[in-house]
Amino acid sequence: STSTVLKRLLESSAQFPVKLHNFIDNEFENTKEKMESINPATGELFFYLNRSGKNEADRAVQAAKRAFESWSETSPQYRSSILLKAAQIIEDNLDDMALLESRDQGKPLWLAKAVDIPRCIHNLRYFANSILHHTDPSILHHSPTPGLSYVVRDPVGVAVLISPWNLPIYLLSFKIAPAIATGNTVVCKPSELTSATAYILMHALFEAGLPKGVVNMVLGTGAEVGEHLVTNPDVALVSFTGSTVIGKKIASLAAPLNKKTSLEMGGKNACIVCPSADLPKAIPDIVRSCFINQGEVCLCTSRLFVHQSIFDQFLSQFLEEAKQYSVGDPESGAKLGAVNSKVHFDKVMSYIKIASEEGGKVVLGGESVQPEGRCNGGYFIQPTVIVGLSDDSRCMREEIFGPVVCIVPFQSNEEVIKRANGTPYGLSATVFSQNVNEIHSIARSLRVGTVWCNTWMLRDLNMPFGGTKDSGMGREGGEDSLHFFTEQKTICLRI
Ligand code: NAD
Repeated sequence: STSTVLKRLLESSAQFPVKLHNFIDNEFENTKEKMESINPATGELFFYLNRSGKNEADRAVQAAKRAFESWSETSPQYRSSILLKAAQIIEDNLDDMALLESRDQGKPLWLAKAVDIPRCIHNLRYFANSILHHTDPSILHHSPTPGLSYVVRDPVGVAVLISPWNLPIYLLSFKIAPAIATGNTVVCKPSELTSATAYILMHALFEAGLPKGVVNMVLGTGAEVGEHLVTNPDVALVSFTGSTVIGKKIASLAAPLNKKTSLEMGGKNACIVCPSADLPKAIPDIVRSCFINQGEVCLCTSRLFVHQSIFDQFLSQFLEEAKQYSVGDPESGAKLGAVNSKVHFDKVMSYIKIASEEGGKVVLGGESVQPEGRCNGGYFIQPTVIVGLSDDSRCMREEIFGPVVCIVPFQSNEEVIKRANGTPYGLSATVFSQNVNEIHSIARSLRVGTVWCNTWMLRDLNMPFGGTKDSGMGREGGEDSLHFFTEQKTICLRI
């Protein structure tokens, strides 16, 4: 059962490593080649996973293609019931799932328990329920030629779903649920750095009674598996979440093949703090927006613009709050855990060094952390605050994706809007002010997909989610996911 596999995987260790297998046609299949998956909190081998290639990618697509014919004809009620059963299996195993996500990703256990796993369950239930209530327009025409026009929505076909390592099951379930609820069949490619909870989700879907071939998963790298999936002629649709560089590459591969594509990519999100902001209320939210999940959320604040008139007061209160953010063993209750990999650790640390070279001043953190005991070899970084950088510095323009924020002053709303919009990214932004007209006028002028005002990360799945410019193409969530995963057909009938 799912819970037995989950328990066995939690016992995996450098001495006795388990291996994760592909899931094709409801069979768990081994490959000859393998890759290592490291626990970022210890730096040690956690488990092995398949290292797949074109052959496995092609076979998974063929399995999904075979299953499409019958799955696309099933009723929404039936598809919904399977998603609901899978959600229940995940919920019954919430604590173990959270522990697995924490060990695989590096995030604190409390966070995986409070956010990642509950959100996976919510994603499955949301789309299982919303598919039952979806309606499309119809129009009755009167004379001179009486008739009826109506719309039907067809699933698109085989969908390839590619996800990143920062919110592994949270983001993959946000794609799987709407894709299969609407009658598509899928091949998933989770990040090779964080495949564990996706593997358990495959077991949960299998246990929930999902027919073979409807959901398949191929493990391995983007270059060796992802690209073959994207370019396979039998794939109709690609839904990608990850970096801008890879998103653009996928777009360039998929566009000539005319595949429907949705891209959720990187960000360099601004937070704007106006003089009227209620600082005691705002600061906990702002600090959280900078550092939660070690800054590894695409929506994290990384450029913080504070009005000149309150800059000093803001900075001292911000630093007070940020100092409360402990870093350490993700299973110890520390506020921040490990960053996801050695490569990522080196990248974030290199940006802190670049900031100093660019004239920035590190006023908090800036160092790695080496906890005593079992996490001694893990990848930990202090929450880091940098001031004094210019807008054209690399740290103010490039995505760092770690616990690092740059704080700079501004003088007028007109100026700060221009500066906030002055990067190639456009994912999200945050505005703090007690003046509703000011909030509205700033929010209207920001070229991003989401603006949070006097809050951060308040997400409702009914609302569209996505980015502008180099942060994305298309929207996910609610109706937008249901629309993306279907094709409309207008039928006109003379009566
Ligand atoms: P990444 O682009 O390196 O990898 C994402 C996925 O793409 C992985 O599964 C990877 O194996 C696969 N991949 C890599 N090369 C590929 C190729 N040539 N063809 C097909 N697939 C390929 O991103 P990452 O480092 O895993 O994740 C971090 C990035 O994701 C950050 O930039 C972050 O902002 C972004 N992100 C965006 C959102 C959003 O909703 N906009 C959400 C989370 C993360």
